[in-house]
Amino acid sequence: MTDSAAPTPRPIHVHERYSSVAPVNAMTVDVEDYFQVSAFERYVAADSWDSMPRRVRANTERLLLLFEEKGVKATFFMLGWVAQREPGLVRDIVAAGHELASHGWSHQRVINQQPDAFREDVRRTRGTLEEISNTPVLGYRAASYSVSLDTLWALDILLEEGHRYSSSICPIRHDHYGIPGFPRFAFCLSDDGILEIPVTTTVLGGRTVPCGGGGWFRLAPYSFSRWALRRVNAEGQPAVFYLHPWEIDPRQPRIPGVDSRTRFRHYLNLARTEKRLARLLDDFSWDRMDRIFGVTAAQDGGDAVRYA
Ligand SMILES: [Zn+2]
Repeated sequence: MTDSAAPTPRPIHVHERYSSVAPVNAMTVDVEDYFQVSAFERYVAADSWDSMPRRVRANTERLLLLFEEKGVKATFFMLGWVAQREPGLVRDIVAAGHELASHGWSHQRVINQQPDAFREDVRRTRGTLEEISNTPVLGYRAASYSVSLDTLWALDILLEEGHRYSSSICPIRHDHYGIPGFPRFAFCLSDDGILEIPVTTTVLGGRTVPCGGGGWFRLAPYSFSRWALRRVNAEGQPAVFYLHPWEIDPRQPRIPGVDSRTRFRHYLNLARTEKRLARLLDDFSWDRMDRIFGVTAAQDGGDAVRYA
């Protein structure tokens, strides 16, 4: 597929249990360490990652504790690189009743990969996660939502490699990613295509803007996130929210030499995020992606999924 022949997305209707007056929303965590984020790519080479103090396990364990306290189950999109080094964390996530999903091996954006290398990356990550966890891995999220019109081939490869859904497209205009005009809610590109579940956005003054976590959650006051997510729910749709373990870690080592814009985006309000997240967990209902969107290994449709 190329950008000259963009297919028409087909919306997927969420089961009525999840799209009633107060939809259940998807809580997701992208399990990567503070030095692996795309914004630091040019400051920290991937081959130096092993020399960096790892904090991903401790931070993720804190999130697991918070989720346990609030009775929330979530989906954890994990890097293969992290899983290989912290297999105990993978098992803790699954033992606590959360969904384990893939975030690729080493946080390479899809736009920087050729199809063969992408397939290899996806296969290796899924294989490693399944081997450690002994549980099927159905979901995939591309690093930095980097599936674009030029890389829609990635969705076919994900399906061929055993994934049942992807959460890799952001329907906004952005210099590094996004497909503006694409659906804001779950869709398939063909009858037998993979289910794509975009991260949550809202429409403000005719513009689609992100409101499903990341930098926006730390930048804007909490009341904005709450207002925006309620608005999405009022459309009868579940929100898909995401955050990273390093976002609740104000004491993480600072990466030297980082430009001021990146520094601002990465380090802003880290000390406030955990508390903010606790409020968010209280103010909305949350569950795992696979349950909300009725995804099963056998691909037998959403009605098999029961939510009590
Ligand atoms: Zn990521």
